[in-house]
Amino acid sequence: CGIVGYVGTKPAAPILVDGLARLEYRGYDSAGVAVVGSSELRVHKDAGRVRELEASLPKRFGGKLGIGHTRWATHGGPSKDNAHPHVSADERIAVVHNGIIDNAAALRNQLEEAGVKLRSETDTEVLAHLIEQAAGDTLEEKVLAALRRIDGTYGIAVIDLAFPDRIVVARNGSPIILGVGDGEMHVASDAAALIRYTRQVVHLDDGELATVRADGYRTFTQDARATTKTAETVEWTA
Ligand code: GLU
Repeated sequence: CGIVGYVGTKPAAPILVDGLARLEYRGYDSAGVAVVGSSELRVHKDAGRVRELEASLPKRFGGKLGIGHTRWATHGGPSKDNAHPHVSADERIAVVHNGIIDNAAALRNQLEEAGVKLRSETDTEVLAHLIEQAAGDTLEEKVLAALRRIDGTYGIAVIDLAFPDRIVVARNGSPIILGVGDGEMHVASDAAALIRYTRQVVHLDDGELATVRADGYRTFTQDARATTKTAETVEWTA
């Protein structure tokens, strides 16, 4: 339903939670955040409201890069396990997803046959495992390889402890926008989440991906060709 992301010099968790609160008007049943800590991925999620998530956030939840999600369940009921972010088996990769993966049942079977213990009933979780298992030297290559195996619609944001400086996002049928800040970048599915921080936004097209780092962004197609996007100023009247 709602996606947020932040990379910069400030603690990510409060910014992510604030962004999720601004997406509440869209409706949701669960919420969660993940940040890249000094040596581990930290994930906090549950069924229920964003303010409950915020109130129960662990004290140690530092990290200047992270992603968050408000979920509107399509595959698997509202629960802590089904809430996003979903993590890979090695707990080094986290994914948030809007949309529906049509071949999720088949992919879940293949993963289970290969010995992966699935932790949720969602379509989304397969993406975390496919990215972990994909061949590739960079997170971008792994995400591209994983996306080639799925059918359906998505807006996604992915973080990986092995690439602690970036968020990789992709869009196919579900919006993703980037917010360009001063030494920081935001990601969202809806401008409402980031308008408080910046008015400079980049809209991804369907079939487009981006690497987002504190110092800027790079966009590319599913066949890894670079695209040129310039930021637009969003007009906003509250
Ligand atoms: N299909 C995913 C799920 O059920 C994402 C739903 C959404 O867009 O919030 O977990």
